[in-house]
Amino acid sequence: MTDCVFCKIISKEIPAEVLYENDKVISVLDINPIHLGHALILPKQHCNDFLDLPDQTYHSLLQAARIVTSALLQSLKIEGYNLFSNNGIIAGQSVFHFHLHITPRYREDNIRFVLNLKKYPDGDLKRYGTMIRKYIKSPAF
Ligand code: AMP
Repeated sequence: MTDCVFCKIISKEIPAEVLYENDKVISVLDINPIHLGHALILPKQHCNDFLDLPDQTYHSLLQAARIVTSALLQSLKIEGYNLFSNNGIIAGQSVFHFHLHITPRYREDNIRFVLNLKKYPDGDLKRYGTMIRKYIKSPAF
């Protein structure tokens, strides 16, 4: 994609701090990190979001996430990390080339996902389960 910033990183049109790379994925440091060392894992083939990810890339993506996470743990001596992905504008996605974030966490770093947790009204846990299961399909691969 010509106007995709991550495609430009992958094609080396714009510079990035590369942590890891193979034929399917690349990992770079996020330029606006939540904490220093915040890494991104990107598939090399352009895809907008999680559901758009090519089947043959899932494994490489998660494998790269493990390799980079392990390096973060050892190099930065962190005790924990968040692994997440924003998908869709409403979920906070700002670059529409699928990516995983891996961000270091520190004790008392005051970063909070502000959640207003709900309870299922009577019968709704089952109702939601039934509603969603109707659309569960076996993978196409
Ligand atoms: P998201 O908002 O989940 O789509 O995440 C996009 C991330 O890409 C943000 O955290 C940005 O800071 C990061 N980002 C944008 N441009 C670059 C770039 N040129 N190099 C590294 N990270 C970038």
